Amino acid sequence: MENLAITGGKPIKDIHTNPWPAWPVWDKNEEKALIEVLNSGIWSYNGPKETMFNKLFAEFVGTKYAISSVNGTVTLQLALEALEIGIGDEVILPGLTWQATAATVLDVNATPVLVDVCEDTWCIDPDAVEKAITPKTKAIVPVHLYGSFADMDAILAIAKRHNLYIIEDCAHKHGGEWNGQKAGSIGDVGSFSFQLSKHLTAGEGGTLTTNDPAIAERIDALRNCGRRPESSDYVTVDKGAGIYGDDGNFVQSGNYRMTDFQAAILIEGLKRLPEQNRKRDENGIYLNSLLLELPGVMPLRRDRRETREAYFNFAFRYNAQEFGGLPIEKFRAALTAELGIEVDSSYEPLNECSLYVPWTKPARHKLSEQYWQDINPARFALPVCRKIHHEESICMHHKVLLGEKEDMELIAAAIKKVHDHAHTL
Ligand SMILES: *Cc1c(COP(=O)(O)O)cnc(C)c1O
Repeated sequence: MENLAITGGKPIKDIHTNPWPAWPVWDKNEEKALIEVLNSGIWSYNGPKETMFNKLFAEFVGTKYAISSVNGTVTLQLALEALEIGIGDEVILPGLTWQATAATVLDVNATPVLVDVCEDTWCIDPDAVEKAITPKTKAIVPVHLYGSFADMDAILAIAKRHNLYIIEDCAHKHGGEWNGQKAGSIGDVGSFSFQLSKHLTAGEGGTLTTNDPAIAERIDALRNCGRRPESSDYVTVDKGAGIYGDDGNFVQSGNYRMTDFQAAILIEGLKRLPEQNRKRDENGIYLNSLLLELPGVMPLRRDRRETREAYFNFAFRYNAQEFGGLPIEKFRAALTAELGIEVDSSYEPLNECSLYVPWTKPARHKLSEQYWQDINPARFALPVCRKIHHEESICMHHKVLLGEKEDMELIAAAIKKVHDHAHTL
């Protein structure tokens, strides 16, 4: 049998004659839209493309409102601020996520409470959420990670019982559906990222979705230097109500506005998203069915309530024992060589994450001795997150799922080849 590519053999996929689909995807329509914005001179500030994109994205997600901003980190921060979460408040979030989910909680002076995830979905564990609730808890931020969904029925029930807000971090889930409802329309607010690697992208960008006019109005004001929106979309909010100062028109904030160039690209990308999602979902289901037949690997559990999946990464679980003890790093490297695409681990758990280091910034975060201790990520035990990251997680960018059925078969064949040759590594 042919040697492994990593030891000099022929790779399973020849990316020179048969490359992976490229990401990002664009064509003449983006070019035309960008030139249109350029020539209009309206490059930002509630421009026609931004207004149009907000309307289209709200329709897509099925919420009354979508309000765009600079990226998916700022959107999380704006959501927290719009819900008036800050000093003295606790926010519960999963230990396995991108650092922004926790860092934004710090940036509004609240306390991130890290909880463990479910072993079979890698998403926040509802039982762990329940245990972490205190009188200070104000919100839960479930993350719909990679190709999985947080159990929104359980999270909604907990939130209702304890009177908590839910901010869905949907940075991986544009177009995914739980029980027929789109991610971002289930909790109080949905937060989306359009960073380059995400499956709807303008290079950078983000949007918040909500059905609540008061929350929408606050978000709109907060992203625009605190100016009360002129739009009549938020008619239920009285002048002077909520967060505004004495004259009823301004709240302290900053400039977090998206440009019309970003919105122009997003309008075009959104037209392709449903078909891309359909293809990724179909390929994901097929690839998972192939993984089930292979020794040593396991798909993530797909709940029957995940009526439409959306993928940021395609992820699955590795069991080194069934590979003769082959360390996971070696498996990833061997698979990378066979497939000609980066095979990665999951995010680092936030209690050992190189980009989540609040103690490096006392000038910003040392609000008190007590707070300084409360935000120390090392105080949280996240055994499942750690096991996933160190021993089980295999992740590939969603562009692999834009390939053909045969590409899914090549991924399965590559895993099998590494399995059968594991003793040679
Ligand atoms: C990408 C991402 C963010 C942040 O979005 P940016 O647009 O990169 O700022 C937040 N949460 C999760 C889970 C992400 O993957």
